[in-house]
Amino acid sequence: MTAPLRLRLDSDALVANWRALDRLSGAAACGAAIKADGYGLGARSVATRLAAAGTRDFFVANWSEAAALGDLGLDVAVLHGVRADDMPLALSGIARPVLNSAAQVARWREAGGGRCDVMVDTGINRLGVAPHEVLGGLLDGLQIDTVLSHLACADEDSAMNLRQVTAFRALQDRTTARRMSLANSAGIALGPDYAFDLTRPGLALYGGVARGELAAVVRQVVTPEAQILQRRTVAAGDSIGYNALYTPAAPMEVAILNIGYADGYWRGFSNAGVAAAGDARLPVVGRVSMDLTAICVDAAPALAEGDWVALEYALPVAAAASGMSQYELLTGLGARFDRVWG
Ligand SMILES: *Cc1c(COP(=O)(O)O)cnc(C)c1O
Repeated sequence: MTAPLRLRLDSDALVANWRALDRLSGAAACGAAIKADGYGLGARSVATRLAAAGTRDFFVANWSEAAALGDLGLDVAVLHGVRADDMPLALSGIARPVLNSAAQVARWREAGGGRCDVMVDTGINRLGVAPHEVLGGLLDGLQIDTVLSHLACADEDSAMNLRQVTAFRALQDRTTARRMSLANSAGIALGPDYAFDLTRPGLALYGGVARGELAAVVRQVVTPEAQILQRRTVAAGDSIGYNALYTPAAPMEVAILNIGYADGYWRGFSNAGVAAAGDARLPVVGRVSMDLTAICVDAAPALAEGDWVALEYALPVAAAASGMSQYELLTGLGARFDRVWG
């Protein structure tokens, strides 16, 4: 059975984005953040394609995400570290934890855990141990693969970036770690000083333009498509949808699409989103509802019930139209889509 809505996912664009980010990472290896089910695309599908292209380092947020990849034989790090509940799975060796606090370090050490990563907080004040704890010996004796830190403002030209990279560089050769890793997608665009040994892009792999410099490099990966459930003529002066947000001044041809905010096609697209069929631009009219969205099809006289249209989803454009972040536009994509890789 097929669903009345689908995501067209472009394997070539995904791999091309990783290759471009790998090139921009210079001598550093380029990994992939595939948390939140591969930013909504499907973590297994993303990981399989990237591993075939040469990606070696994958990052997820928690252990259930790591377990879902367990049979793929990938090198996975779990960004949120280890809670007591996570220890059995963590000690099974399916992935290595990114230890974030002195308590996590103690938990891992006492359990005789092997190889691990460590997150150091250089200013985002989210997860991570403090640089002074590192210099004070907190990590002594741990078998550390990679020391990580995370940039708070990489998508802006902020003095914070230089402060963080400087604080991170001060830890070079102060741990037994094999590698250091700082840059996310936007951090890669900040240049070679930010690349260290390993970069960790997420957003840009999936078509997100994390900084302007990446606009010429990153290709669109995801295009939502929805089927027309009904076509109707709305009379001049009649309104369309909840709260009567759109009232055409002249008779309008309207198609009702099988997609809504429960699928991640957010209400911000009300009177703002655009669909396309061939060369025709078909604007969203009225409020996006939970499962349905109306578009004006005056420009596409032949479109009929059962036909498919594509939603405009170039991420910077869709983010500007909807008021949502590029991240939310990806991670919100729901379970009702068929995910179709081409
Ligand atoms: C999500 C995440 C990334 C990837 O960030 P993007 O902005 O999507 O490139 C990298 N590192 C950490 C620690 C993250 O949480």
